[in-house]
Amino acid sequence: MENYTIYAPPYTVGPEAYGKISEYTRLYGTRAVVIGGTRAMAAAKEKLIRAAAGTDLEIIDFILFGRECTFETAGKLATLPAVREADMIFAVGGGKAIDTCKLVSMELKKPYFAFPTIASNCAAASSLSIVYHEDGSFCDFVHFLDSARHVFIDTQIIAEAPREYLWAGIGDTYAKYYEVSISARDEDLSHYIALGVNMSRMCMETLIRHGEQALKDNINKQPSCDLEQAALAIIITTGWVSMLVARDHSMDYNGGVAHAFFYGLCNLPGFDENHLHGVVVGFGVLLLLMMDGREEECRKLMEFNKKVGLPVRLSDIDVTLDQVASCAEGMTKDEDLDHYPYRVTAQMIIDAAAKLDY
Ligand SMILES: [Zn+2]
Repeated sequence: MENYTIYAPPYTVGPEAYGKISEYTRLYGTRAVVIGGTRAMAAAKEKLIRAAAGTDLEIIDFILFGRECTFETAGKLATLPAVREADMIFAVGGGKAIDTCKLVSMELKKPYFAFPTIASNCAAASSLSIVYHEDGSFCDFVHFLDSARHVFIDTQIIAEAPREYLWAGIGDTYAKYYEVSISARDEDLSHYIALGVNMSRMCMETLIRHGEQALKDNINKQPSCDLEQAALAIIITTGWVSMLVARDHSMDYNGGVAHAFFYGLCNLPGFDENHLHGVVVGFGVLLLLMMDGREEECRKLMEFNKKVGLPVRLSDIDVTLDQVASCAEGMTKDEDLDHYPYRVTAQMIIDAAAKLDY
C-alpha cells in the first residue's frame, strides 16, 4: 500500500472574517503581498489594512494582477521585489486573480491565502489553475497545485458583488453533484473519493434550498444566512469535492456531460464571449439528466432554474439544435468525459438536446 496525504483548506466565513487573518498567517511569517483584480482590490483593500492594523502582520504592497491568468502574467509577478520579499501571498479576487497567484506561489514556493470577493466558482479552495492566453483564449489546465493555507470569505464583500456572479456560480456548482456522482457510479471507491462523492450532494441540495433567497439578498447587499450557505456551497464544498475526487489524471471524477457540452459550444463563434460558463453548464445538467434517462429529476431541476432565471430550453442559451449537432462530435472527445460510466456518442447528445428544444 502507498502512503498519501489528503488536504482540504480550512476557511473562515462571516461579514468580518478578515478579523481572523493574523491568527492563521502567523505560522508562515509576517510579511504579506496582496495580489488581486481591480474590482476585488477596491472591495477588499480597506478591510485588509484594518485587519492587519495592531497585529504583527505587515502588508508590504497591493499589486493589480492584470486581466487574464496567463503564464506570462504569473512569471512577471514572480519577479517583482515585493512579491519576492513577502513571506506569503494574499490572493484576492474571483477566479482569475486567485488562479494566477497559485502559479506565482508554485514558482516562488511561497504559501498563499485566498480571499474570494465573489461567490462564482471554487478557485479559492481548489488546487486547479485555469490558464488563458493573453488574447483571452483558453491555454491550459494546471492540476494538483498547492491549495490555499486558509480561505477567508467576507460575506459582506460577497453580498456587494454583482448578482450575475452568484447566478452563474449556482449553475456550475449544482453541476458538480450530477457530474461527480455519475462519474463514480457503481464503483468501489477509496475513502477520500467516497467522501468527495457524498459531499457533492451538498453542492446541489444547499443551492436548491438557499439559492433563490441568496440571489435576492445579493441584490439587497445583505450578508444573510442564505447567502452564506450559497457562498460556502460554491466556494468551499465544491473546492473540497474537486480536490477529494481527483488525485491524479488517471483517477479524476470531476467533469462530465454538462462541462463537455459547454466547451463544445465554445467552438461556435462568439459563444464563449457572450455566455457565462456557469449558466451554460447549469443548462448542460438538464441535458445530462435527459441523456441519463432521468426526466423526472430533470423536470424538478427545471422548476428550480425557472425560479432563479437559469436556462430551461435550448433557445435560452441562444443555440439551435443544428448548432448543437455541429459541435456534438467534439463534445464526445472532451476530457471531461474521460472517466464516465458509459460512452457518450454524438447521437446521444443530439437526442437529449432535442428534448430541450421546445
Ligand atoms: Zn465549471
